[in-house]
Amino acid sequence: MKPKVLIIDDEETILNALSRILGRSMYEVYLASSPEKGMHIIQNSVIDVVISDIMMEGLSGIDLIKWVNQNTPDIPVILITGNPDLTTAKEAVQYKAFDYIQKPVERTKILEVLKKAIEFRHLTEKNKQNFYETIRRVENLTKRNQDLNYQNSIILDTTVDCVITVRPNSEIFSINRSTRERFATVDMPIVGEHISVLYPPKYEKILNRIFYIIINQNTISPRRNSAEIVLLDNKGKEISCDVSICKYRIGDETFYTGIIRDISERKMLTQKLIESEKISFLNSIASSIGHEINNSLTAIMGFIELAIQPNADLSLKDKAIGIAYSQGQKLRNLTYNLLTLGKSKEGWDASPDDRTELNSCLDEVLEVFEKSNRLKRCDLQVQKHPSSLPIQGNKEKIGLIISNLILNSADATNNTGRISIHSYIDKGEPCISIEDNGMGMSQEVLDKLYEPYFTTKPVGKGTGLGMFVVREISRLYGIKYAVDSKPGVGTKFTLRFHKA
Ligand code: ADP
Ligand code: MG
Repeated sequence: MKPKVLIIDDEETILNALSRILGRSMYEVYLASSPEKGMHIIQNSVIDVVISDIMMEGLSGIDLIKWVNQNTPDIPVILITGNPDLTTAKEAVQYKAFDYIQKPVERTKILEVLKKAIEFRHLTEKNKQNFYETIRRVENLTKRNQDLNYQNSIILDTTVDCVITVRPNSEIFSINRSTRERFATVDMPIVGEHISVLYPPKYEKILNRIFYIIINQNTISPRRNSAEIVLLDNKGKEISCDVSICKYRIGDETFYTGIIRDISERKMLTQKLIESEKISFLNSIASSIGHEINNSLTAIMGFIELAIQPNADLSLKDKAIGIAYSQGQKLRNLTYNLLTLGKSKEGWDASPDDRTELNSCLDEVLEVFEKSNRLKRCDLQVQKHPSSLPIQGNKEKIGLIISNLILNSADATNNTGRISIHSYIDKGEPCISIEDNGMGMSQEVLDKLYEPYFTTKPVGKGTGLGMFVVREISRLYGIKYAVDSKPGVGTKFTLRFHKA
């Protein structure tokens, strides 16, 4: 059976045009040139849908809807409006017009709306309720969505962190207020620019690489990646930042949002702590090294004194020269290592180009210790991987980690225990382990191990900075560190480096 559509309009041309469109499309069309006539038809035939002009002489389309609501509320009414007057459109929705269409009426549009109206007409009462319920829900959701967007934008603009959203082609899509204040200028608003406008030229290559890696991760689900990077602010100053990036999709588009936190201050503090640890390390071995230097000097001076005696024979002179030379060499080695370990470098940044060799780092540390009394009574067992182990990191800092671990092991064994040091390759990664048979650590100590100033040693002996330094340097180069310790049995530290 063809659906029955009633068209009400006081303009004959419109009536004819619509009737032609609908007649061709398998609808049975009824025509009325006034609302009154339309109502008469509705009362006397089974009409499925009404299409009515909103502005007519006498009764209006709105009046018609009110009448339909009271008498035959099941019939959907589609209104046609001549001028896009929002008040009447709103009114139409308020009085439950099924939909409204603007003149000039497009054929596809009217057919589309009509199809929906017919479907609605044949819904059961319960489904109609669902239909209205759904509309209400959509309205609520839209409102909630607007509220959340508002809340979101307020939060974004209040936080001191910089939040930057980037498209997969590296173009900056949006920024929050902090970002605008720190990175943008009037000449360079940065939105729409390539993300590399924020990179200091010397880090451009590595930052592009980091971004490339994040973008090319296969997961589409929201994912957090963090890294430490250096960015250029709008005053041309480099700032150290911690950045967390998440990747997510909205519709068909992928976005990357980075939350960037300025950590320059934290890094400065860390550096100060590291410096003071270095000083205390040097202090702790200075006296024994002094002793060592004195021994060498005593030997040199003693032999030279003998050699400069007028009656000294040639062989004694040769011996004095030999002794002076070998002791001089020993002293030069010692000072070299001391300087390497104690050298103060400006900045505490990990350069991507930092690389060194693990076995030689270990050798230098051991050489310094050999000269001091600290490990003299320890049973030191060193087993080095036979070939060289190039790693990412800088020699002084890696040396500092190793020496801190060895010193802790010595302390834990009261300077008399066994300390086994082993460098090796595991799963392609260079590693070193330092193991002692000392007092070990309780869970309580393990929990606080890396906290700055945490020490169980008496005042004047422990600074509580050693393990903190180990953690900070490890972070710098992505060194993985692990500890395995049992009270009364011993402790084993393992470090796993990135291959260079
Ligand atoms: P410090 O050595 O100045 O006390 P550290 O940060 O180097 O500071 O170490 C913190 C604490 O961790 C030490 O006081 C000690 O209690 C514990 N510790 C570290 N290494 C070992 C170890 N090899 N064996 C037992 N305890 C250890
Ligand atoms: Mg220590």
